[in-house]
Amino acid sequence: MYRDPENGRHLCREHFLADIEIRVAETIRSRNLIVKGDHVAIALSGGKDSTALLMILTKILPSLDSVRLSAITIDEGISGYREDTIRSADRLVVRYGIPHITVSFPELFGGTLDAFLKGREPEACSVCGILRRKALNGAAEQAGATKLATGHNLDDESQSVFMNVLRGDLPRLVRDSGSDSQGRFIPRVKPLMFVSEKEIAVYLMLHGMWADLPECPYAVHALRGEVRRMLATLESKHPGTMLNLMKSKAKIEAQCGGLLMKETVNRCRECGDPCSGEICQFCKLKKSLKR
Ligand code: SF4
Ligand code: ZN
Repeated sequence: MYRDPENGRHLCREHFLADIEIRVAETIRSRNLIVKGDHVAIALSGGKDSTALLMILTKILPSLDSVRLSAITIDEGISGYREDTIRSADRLVVRYGIPHITVSFPELFGGTLDAFLKGREPEACSVCGILRRKALNGAAEQAGATKLATGHNLDDESQSVFMNVLRGDLPRLVRDSGSDSQGRFIPRVKPLMFVSEKEIAVYLMLHGMWADLPECPYAVHALRGEVRRMLATLESKHPGTMLNLMKSKAKIEAQCGGLLMKETVNRCRECGDPCSGEICQFCKLKKSLKR
């Protein structure tokens, strides 16, 4: 029996699983995240969130006409961490019969993340994020996908809201929504954005799919880690904190969204990718990478 701390509901196994799937289907429907005819590429790291995302989408999408699913795994080259999750991703796609592409940083960028980060470990997540975005977009385009689905959950999303507030980054706070389709790359969608990390863990356990995978060794350097711990404490003392952060963001978005629509999207002078300035973040970063 699962007790929902926010509203005190008690759910048996069947109702808990159905509740999660219905909520994800409702997020997809109400925000038009996935529509008839879409080819959805799932960013499958093999970790908990993307595993649950794949399981839920394979369950609920057949009700949407002619939607195709595939999976993309990025091997960043993080020793002692990525090997296990990649094995897990490989097993999952075989089990669910989903076409799968794996691309690695060495083949795309000439070196592993471990090598690029020597001496600049505190920047790990921003370097990793820029390279992974480039890799995912390239692979999704190659696969002919029309949407790129990521496993970001409610905890991730509320942490991002809080971090953008802490950094005073209003444009990113508003732009970073459940569906990023402002003419940039293949639109990204986050169907799990209202499902908490805890619910995802329970969902996987009830399916016998829980695996205690290692944490990324670079996670300790991230501001996100501190925000994560703080929000988790607040959520356990005051259930609903994370959802309230998302609601605050939606209100700010409703007030300021129009301003950001006026932002122009340029093409990077060096690689031609969409970007807001003259040179994209990837091209700026690439010059400083040690191989
Ligand atoms: Fe990349 Fe940071 Fe995530 Fe590790 S924790 S996989 S470095 S974004
Ligand atoms: Zn570029």
